[in-house]
Amino acid sequence: MNYQQILKEIEKEIQPSLQKGKVADYIPALAEVDPNQFAMTITLKSGEQFSVGKSQEDFSIQSISKVLAFSLAINIYSKSLYKRVGVEPSGNAFNSLVQLEYEQGIPRNPFINAGAIVVMDALMSHYGGDYLALEKILNFARDISANQEIKFDSTVAKSEMEYASRNLSLAHLMKSFGNFDNDVRNVVQTYFKQCAIVMNTENLSRAMLYLAFDGTDPINGRSFLNELQAKRVNALMLTCGHYDASGEFAYNVGLPGKSGVGGGIVAVVPDVMSIAVWSPRLNSYGNSYAGTLALQMFTSKTGLSIF
Ligand code: GLN
Repeated sequence: MNYQQILKEIEKEIQPSLQKGKVADYIPALAEVDPNQFAMTITLKSGEQFSVGKSQEDFSIQSISKVLAFSLAINIYSKSLYKRVGVEPSGNAFNSLVQLEYEQGIPRNPFINAGAIVVMDALMSHYGGDYLALEKILNFARDISANQEIKFDSTVAKSEMEYASRNLSLAHLMKSFGNFDNDVRNVVQTYFKQCAIVMNTENLSRAMLYLAFDGTDPINGRSFLNELQAKRVNALMLTCGHYDASGEFAYNVGLPGKSGVGGGIVAVVPDVMSIAVWSPRLNSYGNSYAGTLALQMFTSKTGLSIF
């Protein structure tokens, strides 16, 4: 298949959609990004990459980082983690408080905010504090992307902390139900730093290759998850990776994927490739408008979906 040609077609066809949607402005630092940008990169088993657009432009990976944190957590906690966070799609917005009240402080899954905050709480307990937990996540991000330069953007993290009421509320609510061990503010702040990890589509596509290959990076042979764990992370990406638009994403794209409010989306084609796409304007569910469409075009043109 001529992947470069296919990406070029997508880049051309996507142009009219780059004006659609709205950047995430509830994190002020994210609203400063030029909204009409687009990038897409695929990475194959061999390490060969194909890109179009601004594939070296860094962006905030935001909720895509939840996949990294969860990958670390299932390695540490295995079954005991599921007492604190479920594996069901939420059918609600990523920052919804309502369901958490009904379900007594146990978030539906690790990819909505409440779930990711609980995962951070668990990582902080395990590693012995905020600094060490964040270091572990950053090192994991560096290892999977085979790039020791990966870091987080403290301006974005600080900016989000200034408007943290909703995420703090989620954490306090979980604490009130006894599903929280550490200091609420500290956990949420560390979670924001995790969300503020910066990558471009070349880094991100390379980074997620382990999920396309049963937990092992096919390029350097490093194993990050076992086959069963990788299956679970992919299943969660398919069913919960796009919040209350996860069904729509599965229907239109047909791949396990995870989005972030920075406009990035990562998707994996099992045993074939990892794909990263970025365009900052979001649809009403908080997923990249053009990014979702580009992935839909990609699977339609190539027939590469899991269905
Ligand atoms: N840091 C963001 C938040 O907590 C992440 C949300 C997202 O990317 N969907 O609101």
